[in-house]
Amino acid sequence: MKKLVILGGGFGGLTVFHHMAKLRHEQQMEITLIDERETFLVKPSLPEVSLGEKTVGDITFPLRKVVESYGTFIRNRVERIDPVKQTVFLEDGVAISYDFLVIALGAKKNFGEIPGFVDYGYSMCTDVLAPRLSQAIEAFEKGNVVIGSMPMKQGTRIPEVPFLKAACEGPIGEVAFMIESELRKSGKRDDSRVICFSPAHIFFEDVGDKVHEAFGNLAEKHQVEVVTDKILSKVEKDHVEFEDGSVIESALTIIIPAYYGPDAIVNSGLGDEAGFAPTNEQFQHLDYSNIYAIGDGAARTVPKLGHLAVEQGDIVASHLKKILTGQGEVLPYDPEIFCIMNMGNHKATLIRSNTLYGGQRDVAYYGAVSSLMKKSFDDYMLRFKGKMPPDMLERLLNVYLGRLE
Ligand SMILES: Cc1cc2nc3c(=O)[nH]c(=O)nc-3n(C[C@H](O)[C@H](O)[C@H](O)COP(=O)(O)OP(=O)(O)OC[C@H]3O[C@@H](n4cnc5c(N)ncnc54)[C@H](O)[C@@H]3O)c2cc1C
Repeated sequence: MKKLVILGGGFGGLTVFHHMAKLRHEQQMEITLIDERETFLVKPSLPEVSLGEKTVGDITFPLRKVVESYGTFIRNRVERIDPVKQTVFLEDGVAISYDFLVIALGAKKNFGEIPGFVDYGYSMCTDVLAPRLSQAIEAFEKGNVVIGSMPMKQGTRIPEVPFLKAACEGPIGEVAFMIESELRKSGKRDDSRVICFSPAHIFFEDVGDKVHEAFGNLAEKHQVEVVTDKILSKVEKDHVEFEDGSVIESALTIIIPAYYGPDAIVNSGLGDEAGFAPTNEQFQHLDYSNIYAIGDGAARTVPKLGHLAVEQGDIVASHLKKILTGQGEVLPYDPEIFCIMNMGNHKATLIRSNTLYGGQRDVAYYGAVSSLMKKSFDDYMLRFKGKMPPDMLERLLNVYLGRLE
């Protein structure tokens, strides 16, 4: 019996798991999923936790029960992989062998490298930091809210992958607008400024002109300021400093840190210069065809989006199915930026764009319908334990969105 080991039960890993579990009637296979967490975290809902609208408990579900419905769940930290011996080594010294390995460990977010972050910085990026940010927003009285990301590192092994300066700026725009709305509600907006900074030359560098125009109009209307080409060098109690020598006063500084490949990939010699795993378009590692890497930890995933991790999980499952059963077709990789940004006050902006990859699609749709879609999507993920809505719903959504293009 073949052994499939999935490292990481986040967006990418759980997608592969659900597909492969369905295949169990056609192909006997041992599936083991290893994660250091006991719960799945719906990260796109962390902005709601940051604003006190949801608790961490509202956006997690137990992984063990889901995985043990078919496979084996191991809660442990992956230390390293020996790709020649086809073995994964865990923190407690246990070794797990595999025939096929899927690395879906997400990215390492290095908060520690930002001087001053530990004392004065906040973030929406983890289930520990988001509740802390929520308390800071509640206590906020007046001054500048400064929010932005550190530059992303990328390797060079897959030259066709677009180069971006920021890993993903959606949560920046999202939290900026949500705070803006909150300050308005609590009567503090006149005493505050909301300022987004970007390390890139243009905020949301991963989308096209139409989305920029739509976002620019909303930012102007809501007086959310944007400064670009800003690389943060230090967070202080009452200001932030940038590499170009400029300083912005800040009463509340919110950061997305730099993303790197996870330690387990780096420790195994499977990463590129930034630690991300380089793959072909079927997400097989360039040096080991029985190792797949998907999601934020894969070099091909640019920007770092759950939507891409899920699409890649679908592709890996179709590839494995073809290898194991000879049936089905391997899905093509057709990346697009798809995200729904909560913008407070029951409104959201749905963004769908593939201009980064040479396509023509570039839409932004702001309104209550987008907000409802985000809520429905997040609720679906929780209710159906990390499964994506059925293809039929996706086709209906495509028809609806096609009308907006
Ligand atoms: C605030 C925020 C908002 C976002 N909003 C959106 C959005 O609206 N739309 C969107 O598409 N994307 C969004 N994203 C991005 C999205 O969450 C990620 O792209 C997605 O989670 C990546 O999936 P993944 O499977 O690669 O990794 P993850 O979902 O991060 O899962 C990785 C898993 O690996 C486990 N793990 C890591 N290291 C180890 C180890 N050494 N040993 C064992 N287990 C380990 C972790 O515990 C985790 O369960 C958002 C991200 C953030 C931070």
